[in-house]
Amino acid sequence: SQTLGALLAARGAALGDARVLASPDRDDISYRALDEFTRTIGGDLRARGIGAGDVAAILLDNGPEAATAFLSVSRVAISAPLNPALKTEELAYLLDDMNARAVIIEAGRDHPVVDLARARGIDVLCLSAGHQAGVFSLDGGNGPESADPIDAAGPSDASLILYTSGTTSHPKRVALSHANLIAGSGFAAKAMGLVPGELCLNVMPLYHAHGLTSTILASIVGGSAVICTGGFSADTVLPMMRRYRPSWFSAVPAMHQAVVGMARTDPDALGGISLRVIRSASSPLPADLLAEIEATFGAPVVEAYGMTEATSLVSANPLPPGRRKTNSVGISTGCAIAILDEAGRHLGPDEDGEIAISGPNVFDGYGNAPEANAAAFSGGYFRTGDFGRRDADGYLYIRGRTKELINRGGSKIIPGEIDTVLRRHPAVVEAAAFALAHPTLGEDVAAALVLRAGAIVSTAETQAFLRERLADFKVPSRIFVVDDLPKTATGKVRRSELTKRFATAPA
Ligand code: ATP
Ligand code: MG
Repeated sequence: SQTLGALLAARGAALGDARVLASPDRDDISYRALDEFTRTIGGDLRARGIGAGDVAAILLDNGPEAATAFLSVSRVAISAPLNPALKTEELAYLLDDMNARAVIIEAGRDHPVVDLARARGIDVLCLSAGHQAGVFSLDGGNGPESADPIDAAGPSDASLILYTSGTTSHPKRVALSHANLIAGSGFAAKAMGLVPGELCLNVMPLYHAHGLTSTILASIVGGSAVICTGGFSADTVLPMMRRYRPSWFSAVPAMHQAVVGMARTDPDALGGISLRVIRSASSPLPADLLAEIEATFGAPVVEAYGMTEATSLVSANPLPPGRRKTNSVGISTGCAIAILDEAGRHLGPDEDGEIAISGPNVFDGYGNAPEANAAAFSGGYFRTGDFGRRDADGYLYIRGRTKELINRGGSKIIPGEIDTVLRRHPAVVEAAAFALAHPTLGEDVAAALVLRAGAIVSTAETQAFLRERLADFKVPSRIFVVDDLPKTATGKVRRSELTKRFATAPA
């Protein structure tokens, strides 16, 4: 299959009554029913004038409808799932940026997008959920019927618009084609060994690549099933696992941390849970957390690395009995990987540089950032903005983001290295090093700490702790204690926000 429509039709024909989506307190939906249902909704969208090239924004809470709305739109047009918690100003920017033709929301909900859509002449389509997981009916919209038939898109046509997480700057618009989605989710399915009979518990938001492609689409490519939950909450993950017995799940490190914390306080909570494998992706997974997850579940952790621009997946550690290397994000899952220097020359094994990728899962340019595009592509490779190296066996090690390197008087410092050491301090729960402007050095190193309840540490003591473990030039000269680190919706630390926040802090 080279398009999502062809994939759904092929799976419907081959797997028939096998379930594909489940959801708490709803009936399961089969592969055949999913194919028929998404085709029917595709027809409803056509009848409302939505056809090839039109963008339908989807603003739904996490759950099976977020998955089936995306799949249905993909049979006639382009979908753009957005975080429904976004505020008016953010939504207005995004609707204009993507040139939305319709928005899909839940019926009976008073959402700020409705007024924005009306003011722009954008159709508002309201969805009412049925008794089966993901099945819904649509109200509203009144365009003249579109002439484009169902499944008319070709492999290189855009299918899905996603925005990057906005960790380093404003979220960037990424349009993924049908071919990108098929390739990327195929790599993800293979990396996780997904076959019919596997069951995923999805806790990831369905408006980012991790949840949409590496769990939902990967499961469909693999012919397996997904339980679509309402999203992540630390106290419901283990009860859901006891109830539904999934064989795997995927989450970001901050979520894994919360889940193992719950298991620690109540070991009985693990009764009856038997996972084949656990996946971690989206931000760095500390080696001690990886060990703790494996000890908790008695199952292997696969750490994967990817990004929106690569339809989620770039590399992953091999499943057992394949070899895993500590602190590595594994080997290529299908695309070509190169390490480039600033001039775009290819570097050799164990040399540090920017990670660059090329392959059928890689997008072909940002929709809203010409200057970012010029900088992002070099010799047919997309420069990921991540900094790291590859060893002689092809295992990739990420050391940080190029934008976050701290240039202290010419010495490049990797903030993640400082974070790792800070986290070993008994009073520290979370830490993030970041750059502050300095009159003579250019940049100086600072760090923000979240402390354990009741703990107190002085700057001098923290610096002494670091000086025993790190070269002097890496030791932050300013240390700030904060209640929380600024993070994105998927729990990534926004160092640039710390730089902004503390730029004018009195010395
Ligand atoms: P923006 O591009 O808007 O600044 P973002 O890069 O966080 O945000 P995403 O595409 O959601 O947006 O995330 C991809 C990035 O997440 C990668 O480029 C990398 O920096 C980071 N990442 C993903 N997986 C891992 C991992 N296993 N270890 C370390 N970092 C990871
Ligand atoms: Mg990025």
